Amino acid sequence: MKDLRQHREDYLNQFKERPYGRNLLKTEDPFDAPSEECGIFGLYSDNDLDTFSLSQFGLFALQHRGQEACGISVMKNGKIFNIKDEGLVLDVFKEIRNPETFMGNSAIGHTRYTTAGDKKKYNFQPFFAKNEYDQIILSIAHNGNLTNADELKKELEAEGVVFKATSDSEVILRLIQKNLDLGLRGAIKATMEKIKGAYSVVGMTRNKFFAFRDFHGIRPLVLGAIDEKTFVAASESVALDAVGAQYVRDILPGEIVYTSENETGLKSFLVREDCEKRICAFEYIYFARPDSILENINVHEIREKSGMKIWEQAPVEADIVIGVPDSGVPAAIGFSIASGIPFRPVLIKNRYIGRSFIVPSQEMRERIVNLKLNPIVSEIKGKRVVIIDDSIVRGTTSKRLVKILKDAGVKEIHFRSVSPPIIAPCYLGIDTPSKDALISANMNVEELRQYLGVDSLEFLSMDNLKIILGSSNHCFGCFTEEYPVPAGPSPDYTDE
Ligand code: SF4
Repeated sequence: MKDLRQHREDYLNQFKERPYGRNLLKTEDPFDAPSEECGIFGLYSDNDLDTFSLSQFGLFALQHRGQEACGISVMKNGKIFNIKDEGLVLDVFKEIRNPETFMGNSAIGHTRYTTAGDKKKYNFQPFFAKNEYDQIILSIAHNGNLTNADELKKELEAEGVVFKATSDSEVILRLIQKNLDLGLRGAIKATMEKIKGAYSVVGMTRNKFFAFRDFHGIRPLVLGAIDEKTFVAASESVALDAVGAQYVRDILPGEIVYTSENETGLKSFLVREDCEKRICAFEYIYFARPDSILENINVHEIREKSGMKIWEQAPVEADIVIGVPDSGVPAAIGFSIASGIPFRPVLIKNRYIGRSFIVPSQEMRERIVNLKLNPIVSEIKGKRVVIIDDSIVRGTTSKRLVKILKDAGVKEIHFRSVSPPIIAPCYLGIDTPSKDALISANMNVEELRQYLGVDSLEFLSMDNLKIILGSSNHCFGCFTEEYPVPAGPSPDYTDE
């Protein structure tokens, strides 16, 4: 087993030769966790609606999926307008003085977290394509990662297509654009037959709206309606709630929904009938908001059940159970319900720190251990504590957490992760580190227990994860190294 410091150095070194590597900033993030992977929102209405403001509400509900940049495209009277910039939804759109300019029949939006391409402005979404008169004719917003983007990009470049960004999402845009003479549905179908990997997409032409999802439905995409003339597609159902839409159903793997000329309502077309559903298990464990419903399953319910299940799997005598905010808290409540051990909300999270908080040196990182999480010492001093977290990635946060608890004078620490050990990276739209930096890929449970310095350590088993999710129809790639689509090259390709 490699020394952990060496792991970290090796991992950082790989970025030194690659100026625009995807995780450069996140590697420096002192708060170890897998990171979100973009939120998308789209709305189409035959009514006269303020689609621009509604899109802001939708994106605001999806802010947890990406905080680096955001944007909205609006279709109005046969024209498409686009606004996008670095920053949070509330910041990017606050300077818009004349929102009525952007009210139209249709709007799509995106909150960005970089999982492919670099962090420059040309990679912000929605992406758009223009005609020879400099008018936008197509715009899309994408969540996911293509595993064959590099290869397709080279093919398209050889045909004379000029790329303006380094993100895999532009490959989807250019393929649809290239095939538009097949009609919108035909262009999307041709694109889906070429691209591989994870993709949930919303988009528009100058008179049509569409949304589609990859053949395994790896990233979520839900469909809702405000009335019989107004439809919404979004990464999570919380975005439907934010605009007053009712959840209708999830868009199916391999399905295109679209508007067609001279017909009201949305149409549906299945590019393939034999798709095997494999939504990302981590959406339930960590990424999605607890108030979201994905594939008809409430996320909070899954998290609570995970706490109950790990109590069954690894019971322990203790005085209190605490959860690591935010996603560890419902699991801790579930553990408490099942065990009878009181749940105490004694870890206080600083909500203003943001995920992109960068600390320049190891020394400063050591000094700020309690900046994000701070305990109520009087509640835990001298107690036997069960601490529940959603996962252990690099192990750095868990180690800091244990130090915080020990400094506060706890008597025993029993650590429970309500996901199985993460042993492999994600190629399908989630920002996880390479295998070298994943602590469970390099230590067994006992070695990790000793490294963390806890009295006991347990991970939710794969079998139990499948039981609480109710099926095996999920992607479990980062726990099993078996992905629904071949892993392909690293998603951090760049042509810079
Ligand atoms: S590899 Fe892991 S994080 Fe990536 S899609 Fe699969 S389950 Fe989700």
